[in-house]
Amino acid sequence: MNILLVYAHPESASLNGSLKDFTVKHLENAGHSVQVSDLYAMKWKTSLDADDSLDSINGEFFDAVMSSRQAFDHGRQSEDIAIEQEKLRWADTVILQFPLWWFSMPAILKGWVDRVYANGFAYGVGEHSDTHWGDRYGEGNLAGKRAMLIVTAGGWESHYSARGINGPIDDILFPIQHGILYYPGFDVLPPFMVYRTNKVDQAKFIDITHELGQRLDHLAITTPIGFRQQNGGSYAIPQLTLREDIAPDRSGFAIHIE
Ligand code: FAD
Repeated sequence: MNILLVYAHPESASLNGSLKDFTVKHLENAGHSVQVSDLYAMKWKTSLDADDSLDSINGEFFDAVMSSRQAFDHGRQSEDIAIEQEKLRWADTVILQFPLWWFSMPAILKGWVDRVYANGFAYGVGEHSDTHWGDRYGEGNLAGKRAMLIVTAGGWESHYSARGINGPIDDILFPIQHGILYYPGFDVLPPFMVYRTNKVDQAKFIDITHELGQRLDHLAITTPIGFRQQNGGSYAIPQLTLREDIAPDRSGFAIHIE
């Protein structure tokens, strides 16, 4: 398989750095081709702005959505964006690896998503009408590819359990797994989580890498999270609400999982 690892941690000697090195080595030893986008090492430009298009706007109103579309359609995107899109086209599986910072991904990785996920590439794909609201949530340009998160968190697993004070980890990761990965088409595998990071020592690290190695060995056969397809009949279109007879009287993120 071709595997793209998008990695966001500023310190190569960190736990995340060690897990990244382990992941690359493990996947390559298993015969996979691996590319790493090490965002801090690349000094990735985090903010989306008018400079993401090679065409100057000369003081005109900057419309982020339209500018992205124009640049994507006409080959006028900033080169760093086009290179990352090419890596995504190349990849069969994409792994996003990051420490949980303020219940989300580090800003540099969010900036990678904001800029690389261009209009026409990751959104604005397919027919948009009152009967077909685009190719997204299970369809789109990245359909057929798999994705998985590797996330480290300072909090304990119980803090992220169903009744934990931080909220369930599935809910915290929903905007990333459903909104960022499933939206453009990825099949999303359950995340690989490391909790209570300040308690990681040599013995724990060996356990973690053993478990991670098994997850990596099963990338191709792991059952994805059962997010419901937008165009699979479960949602009314164009309202995009889940049909009344599915998960009746329930609400929240979990209703979007079969
Ligand atoms: P490091 O600090 O590099 O290492 C953690 C431990 O692993 C250390 O004890 C280190 O000695 C050990 N270690 C590292 N490498 C190895 C190795 N090769 N072998 C053996 N041991 C090793 N946490 C939450 O739960 N929720 C949040 O919302 C949250 N928000 C945060 C916001 C910010 C801005 C910051 C800075 C932290 C936040 N945290 C939060 C904590 C954060 O998630 C953890 O600090 C992070 O996940 C730890 O990962 P690291 O790679 O930086 O670990």
